[in-house]
Amino acid sequence: MTERLYYHDSFQKEFEANVVSCEREGDRWKIILDRTAFYPTSGGQPHDLGRLGEVEVLEVADLPLSPAPASPVTPPAGMTHDMVHYTSAALPVGPVQGKIDWARRIDHMQQHTGQHLLSAAFIELFGFQTKSFHLGRLTSTIDLEAPSLTPRQLEDAERRTNEIIFEDREVAVRFGTAQELAEAGIRKTVEREGVLRAIEVEGFDRQPCGGTHLARTGQAGLLLIRKLERSRNLWRVEYVAGYRALSAARADFGILIQAGSLLTCATSEVPAAIAKLTEERRGQHTAGKKMEERLAQLEARELLKKLSSGSASDSLRIVAATLNDATASYLGILAAKLIAESNVVALLGSRAAGHVVFAQTKGSSSAHDLGALLRETLKDFGGKGGGSKDFAQGSVPNAADLEQVVQRAQKSLSSK
Ligand SMILES: [Zn+2]
Repeated sequence: MTERLYYHDSFQKEFEANVVSCEREGDRWKIILDRTAFYPTSGGQPHDLGRLGEVEVLEVADLPLSPAPASPVTPPAGMTHDMVHYTSAALPVGPVQGKIDWARRIDHMQQHTGQHLLSAAFIELFGFQTKSFHLGRLTSTIDLEAPSLTPRQLEDAERRTNEIIFEDREVAVRFGTAQELAEAGIRKTVEREGVLRAIEVEGFDRQPCGGTHLARTGQAGLLLIRKLERSRNLWRVEYVAGYRALSAARADFGILIQAGSLLTCATSEVPAAIAKLTEERRGQHTAGKKMEERLAQLEARELLKKLSSGSASDSLRIVAATLNDATASYLGILAAKLIAESNVVALLGSRAAGHVVFAQTKGSSSAHDLGALLRETLKDFGGKGGGSKDFAQGSVPNAADLEQVVQRAQKSLSSK
């Protein structure tokens, strides 16, 4: 049975041990030591990385020796699990020096200890229990059981957590039976035999846990809540602590500086500047739409004027035109203006948008089905589209084909 050094001292970065066994498993090696400071994946916290001698440790797992219930709380005595170090190469049986990847470990301890504090703050302030915890690559989450959760409550829990961090309270490891811990006021009742391990934050919280923790709350630096989302019947609160909080705050500030520079204003004025821009944009959009309507009206009149003077308004007038820079939406507006006149068929294309619109005056003397004509015409150009008998639109992959599309449709109409 591997002796777990981190149980008593989470700050041991290097240790001496003996390789008890070394077996090949796929392309990795499975190593068991007599004692280890490596933490295995469990209780929501990922495993440590590091080295055994010159060999890289890829994963550390807590594997059951015999069927045993999975629990984040593993008794230090009479253990039912053994610790397996998966490495990139083999090691001879005998003495070896272990070295933990400290940056990764301290990061995990900051997030994990932060979780204890945040969970305890939610209980102290609102009685909301934490149902699960996940330590992710960039952020961590706790799932809370709560009827509802307001932004104000999040802020209160965040402030209380940071108060405890700034007070730099002691974080101690306690051992005892379930009954002893219950009498001492443990947060979660545990129905397990033997000696249990609990983490006590001086005068604030005591809960059963087998993970690695900081020695003092101040080492967590700062905890920031980043996101709230509903996850089935629970509330998922995302947070960062320690160096991650520093990185997150630094990245947020970088974004704010960038936004200020793009808007040429002070960072504090960014929201007002965005609101002003949005308002202006809305106004310009409305004005642009009105101008498009007026332009389309004029352009429609011009296109109808260009038709041979012989075509009277009681005979069918076919307007075929390819525009250079019209948007698909403008093409639609122009078509609507054209077919507002009696007996008009509009065959319009836009080179810029690669778009075509075929439309005709409702109830005109044309008996054509423009939806069918559009599909038939586009087929040869690899385009796609559709619509009704009176209004159809589509696009072609090669905008250079547009002129031909319109011409072919016009020819097809004239021949009928
Ligand atoms: Zn813990």
